[in-house]
Amino acid sequence: MLLDAQGRALREAAVPVPAIAPGELLLRVRACGVCRTDLHIVDGELEGGRLPIVPGHEIVGTVSRRGKGAERFAEGERVGVPWLGGTCGECDHCRAGRENLCDRARFTGFHRDGGYAEYALADERFCFALPASFDDAEAAPLLCAGLIGYRALAMAGDARRVGIYGFGAAAHIVAQVAAFQGRELYAFTRLGDSAAQGFARKLGCRWAGDSTQTPPEPLDAALLFAPVGALVPLALAATRKGGVVVCAGIHMSDIPSFSYSLLWGERTLRSVANLTRRDGEEFLRLAPLARVRTEIRRYALAEANSALADLREGALNGAAVLVP
Ligand SMILES: [Zn+2]
Ligand SMILES: [Zn+2]
Repeated sequence: MLLDAQGRALREAAVPVPAIAPGELLLRVRACGVCRTDLHIVDGELEGGRLPIVPGHEIVGTVSRRGKGAERFAEGERVGVPWLGGTCGECDHCRAGRENLCDRARFTGFHRDGGYAEYALADERFCFALPASFDDAEAAPLLCAGLIGYRALAMAGDARRVGIYGFGAAAHIVAQVAAFQGRELYAFTRLGDSAAQGFARKLGCRWAGDSTQTPPEPLDAALLFAPVGALVPLALAATRKGGVVVCAGIHMSDIPSFSYSLLWGERTLRSVANLTRRDGEEFLRLAPLARVRTEIRRYALAEANSALADLREGALNGAAVLVP
């Protein structure tokens, strides 16, 4: 039997307990979302990660054991672990409140083992309390799809007409937040994907069509969640003068060359990278207020490859979630 530091039997015995560093939590994984970034990692499209690695950065877990000095959360408490797993706290970006750009950031499921597992370790300073109105599996997609969507939407400023390219996990959450904020949503999907277009309309989008189509009104902002560089000139063409096009993915195929006239007129093209803890706290407060519902498909842990394949095929409405 495994005992903790005080000699008490561990709640979850029969697994080897790893060394828990000071300030870290050992979490029993209750659910872990499957994100497009995991596909990029599996496909070797991102440089700088550790191999071998346990992917997964949308972890909902309960605190099984705490390392020395870890006091933010109680044993048994439910927490969320996002992509941002650690920062240096010292670089120019960290000191300027832009820890999402930290030069020495440690990402969950990329530099440190993630949540495609029964147990995971996390630095408690980068964990979030989770709103009680979501069950474990429903809460998981909030931790990346929701957070990155929220940060991307924030980059759209006060844009009223917002276009969303790629209607997957992030888009289905951000659409609900944007509708709550009184914005008009325009959803762009793969050619002829009438299922995704119907899903978008159901979530309050005013218009849904193919990514090559021109929306009925020029957009004030466009958010790109699909990792397809060819969408950039299309989105610029659909966006009015002075508008912004936000690329929200961590990886994108090459952007084809395009006429300067698409950027002219003070249009802005920018990316969104990672998240800050402040984004997480703001979004997790907002999600219950906006009555966000996450559409999920549950998979057993052993079905992780099927979940990734379904994501690759675009066979999901909403998000895939592994439930150990
Ligand atoms: Zn830093
Ligand atoms: Zn992600």
